[in-house]
Amino acid sequence: MCGDLRAANVGETVTLMGWVNRRRDHGDLIFLDLRDRSGITQAVFDKGLSPVAHAKAESARSEYVVAVTGQVISRDFDMKNPAMPTGDIEIAVGELLLLNDARTPPFSPAEDAIANEEVRLKYRYLDLRRTEMQENFALRSRVAMAIRNYLVAEGFLEIETPFMTRSTPEGARDYLVPSRIHAGSFYALPQSPQIFKQILMISGFDRYFQIARCFRDEDLRADRQPEFTQIDLEISFPQMDSIFRVTEGFLAAAFAAGGIALSTPFVRMTYDEAIRNYGIDKPDMRLPAMVSLSNILTPELRTALKIEQSLPILGFVIPGVGELSGTERKKLLSEVRAGFGDCGLDLLDVARLRTNATFAPLADAISAALAASLGVLALSAADLITVVTPKLGTPARWNHDPQWIYKRVGALRLELGAKFADKHGRFAKTGTADDFKFVWVTDFPMYEWNEETKTWDAAHHPFTSPHEDDIQAGRLTSDKGAVRALAYDIVLNGNELGSGSIRIHRKDVQAEIFRSLGMTDEEAHERFGFFLDALAYGTPPHGGIALGLDRIVMVLAGAASLREVIAFPKTARAIDLMVDAPTPATPQQLRELHLRIATRS
Ligand code: ASP
Repeated sequence: MCGDLRAANVGETVTLMGWVNRRRDHGDLIFLDLRDRSGITQAVFDKGLSPVAHAKAESARSEYVVAVTGQVISRDFDMKNPAMPTGDIEIAVGELLLLNDARTPPFSPAEDAIANEEVRLKYRYLDLRRTEMQENFALRSRVAMAIRNYLVAEGFLEIETPFMTRSTPEGARDYLVPSRIHAGSFYALPQSPQIFKQILMISGFDRYFQIARCFRDEDLRADRQPEFTQIDLEISFPQMDSIFRVTEGFLAAAFAAGGIALSTPFVRMTYDEAIRNYGIDKPDMRLPAMVSLSNILTPELRTALKIEQSLPILGFVIPGVGELSGTERKKLLSEVRAGFGDCGLDLLDVARLRTNATFAPLADAISAALAASLGVLALSAADLITVVTPKLGTPARWNHDPQWIYKRVGALRLELGAKFADKHGRFAKTGTADDFKFVWVTDFPMYEWNEETKTWDAAHHPFTSPHEDDIQAGRLTSDKGAVRALAYDIVLNGNELGSGSIRIHRKDVQAEIFRSLGMTDEEAHERFGFFLDALAYGTPPHGGIALGLDRIVMVLAGAASLREVIAFPKTARAIDLMVDAPTPATPQQLRELHLRIATRS
């Protein structure tokens, strides 16, 4: 291969095949850099030694495909290139075959400067020739293999499930495939293998996994793809711990394949703790947590400062932001206040409190509490303190949500963390396991209030088991908002990498959950009757999880987008620019599929 040869090979006669990365013509001497997936080797054509090969090399251009045969020779001392693994040697070519020519490419795979993304996606085959992309896909392959090896060694069977199926319960929009044979009927592409993997447990396979493609017809926010790949698994007779251990194990194997030694087990917290401490269900642990300052703000102080009694007062520190000037501080305060709009929240200007004799002790107490939460004796002037207070009249609930203040302040924590990222440096890459802060979030709520439809939806999916205590206490009907699910997420640096749950394995409980989601028994039967039937034939307790492979590889590659690690991705408008899909169907195809296009006017 073009990346293999070293000084030890000097004297050997070799044949290399690859692409012309660059060509330099010095008259009697022509240099072709040959590239393949393993690297680059310099080939030299000397007119005096091999006039025929030299003449052919004159016509070679960038991206031509060639084969050279020649002798590995040592480069002159001052010609060695320590930046190239093959930089000690070159090939003195005796024979050149031009295997194929190439049009002048719209951008050169040899250049570091990257063409705009539309051009890259249209000419994806050229884009994928770039070293960086070749490395991303080599990494992806190693990661997938490491995961497979780990899971197989843990006793998992890899089993494929269908792409052409019926609607699955992930809650996104389905991609439908019209049936030719059954006029007016459609298959749905699976949003996940969820029902099938549960049925595999009913069938006694005990431990299933699949590196599975999933399809969801969602509006493509920044980093989503209509089809993506999950590492999907399911275990019979599990404890939550067994699922966590296996997931940590395959993640450690995947990261090892990317050169990172993770330490396990990961931190765990409940959903409630995540909201109270980070204001979000996917905490970014690279920044310090929020701190409740409610106790420090006594009723008298609240009255004096016009703060609502009994609502939480939260503060947080972004360390190492650098001291802000008076003007910068005021600007920041007014920006944040403007961002709050009229929700009732306000900021406490701690620096100003400090200059006022009455409130200076309060400012000190706040600093001390925040310092203690960071485990330091005192904060430095470079640490940015933010304290959020509810004004008089601030509502305790917002859209049925009593935790909205935590979430709003958590969002501000992330906003400020991002705004000052260059200064605090906590998101900077060190290339070690320190860059990756994993956390398990457990005990998610079972239901989620849907303001649009004014209904309770399943927060995960409707096969997730509620906490036994909440079933016993009758909360499924009396207090849906308080029902906890045996559901968990794995979170990395503030991104959800995957989620899963212990499932319902009893038919009566499953039927009750469908009812609690507003489905009549007839509707439940219509959509999931086959599954309810299956549950009735001896279903073991089971549970599982699914993690996004694309995101794992993206993080390991240090790539900025999922499209860098998916060979043939779609644009944000769900278009494949290379093959130009989707396309209209021909009239004959439509006829066969019993479809007519109703064009919107
Ligand atoms: N099917 C779920 C998902 O794709 C994961 C799971 O519950 O295992 O999010």
